[in-house]
Amino acid sequence: MTQREGSLEAPTRHSLDWRSDEFYDDKALFDELERVFDICHGCRRCFNLCHSFPTLFDLVDESETMEVDGVARKDYWQVVDHCYLCDMCYMTKCPYVPPHEWNIDFPHLMLRAKAARFRKQGASMRDKVLAATDAVGKFAGIPVIAQVVNATNRSKFGRKMLEGALGVHHAAPVPDYHSKNARKRLKHLRGPSTVRGEPTESTRGKVVLYTTCYGNRNHPEIDEDLVAVFEHNGIPMALAETASIFCETLVVEAGLARLEGPERLAQLDVDLVGTNQVIVDIRSRFLFESELFRRRSRGTLSASELCEMMTAAQAEAYGDGLDQSTAHPYMWLLKPHYYGSHFYNWPYTYGLLFGLGLFARYQEDPEHFRAGYDDLLSRAGMDTAEELGAAFGLDVTDGAFWTASLDVVRSRIDDYAALAAEVGGLE
Ligand code: SF4
Ligand code: SF4
Repeated sequence: MTQREGSLEAPTRHSLDWRSDEFYDDKALFDELERVFDICHGCRRCFNLCHSFPTLFDLVDESETMEVDGVARKDYWQVVDHCYLCDMCYMTKCPYVPPHEWNIDFPHLMLRAKAARFRKQGASMRDKVLAATDAVGKFAGIPVIAQVVNATNRSKFGRKMLEGALGVHHAAPVPDYHSKNARKRLKHLRGPSTVRGEPTESTRGKVVLYTTCYGNRNHPEIDEDLVAVFEHNGIPMALAETASIFCETLVVEAGLARLEGPERLAQLDVDLVGTNQVIVDIRSRFLFESELFRRRSRGTLSASELCEMMTAAQAEAYGDGLDQSTAHPYMWLLKPHYYGSHFYNWPYTYGLLFGLGLFARYQEDPEHFRAGYDDLLSRAGMDTAEELGAAFGLDVTDGAFWTASLDVVRSRIDDYAALAAEVGGLE
């Protein structure tokens, strides 16, 4: 019987079985690594994609048997470490991806190995710093600091320090940091575009740009060039927002599923403090800003009037959930968001509730959800919120959708209260 190749159309990606014990089991993991490495060794098609494959092939070629069985299992980690999960081998190269019976999903296997090691050993400070690309880029991108960091990274002394502190080889290329990042340079692409693209048979006529932390902070000129080419050709672009509330919801839920007692209480606490800010405090900012525009159209406003408006907005948003003597009249001065763009904060509330609403829908019917989620993501930034929801069977104009989102928060509050009483003896 002939076996049909995978990769003849968009590959079928199977979910990771990350909840099962076998997923983290050393023997099962290494057996699977050996099976896949052996197939890759016979194929070698991905030799030039990244450093994982050449590392594997060198290990095999330099072993005594010149087969995968000659490679010490501890050396498998070199292959795993060189994979940065770009997905290229899976998406574009491998003919043995599902539905092929060899069922090769190299990036997922690397992810599984990384997850198994993380569960056992946690992450070193070095790994945490190097993986926090956005936080590092944010700090290193502060004006003046950016120039100092870039100059240090170009000096021999600086590279020695970097090698000593974080293990970054002194000869490895290290990119520059920019204080004027791509998101700042391409600010005009945020928000709805007035230019309509012309859809063709298989396109929607519009392109969404994901800047990535690397493009955003290290090579903003690449993003700018890309936008210039698309705009020159009359294809409107939108800038994708980076925060994924839905992913955050999944991570929080996964954490809650594993945690108990004080740790669970701590996680709920962090989550609810953030949710409170996004839902309640941002509503106070929305009320304040609405009032500001209303009054400012009639004349200038003094600082005391702004303070009075701020406390009134907080009183309305928080109700009896806040001791009003702790309200902050100068929030309008502290929050830089007010000075960048109008109603800057509001999309966070919308995003959080939309993500939680999606999660509620996922819990109701996971199979249907999975079938539509990729499509929803591919349309984000191009369709209106109503269209996005409708394509997924959600009516964002119906209060019930938002109530379902708030129900997710409500159940976490109930959980928190019960746990606080049990663990902390709090009523
Ligand atoms: S997913 Fe990993 S192994 Fe595959 S091409 Fe990207 S970096 Fe290489
Ligand atoms: S991932 Fe697939 S295409 Fe790439 S080397 Fe392995 S078997 Fe070959």
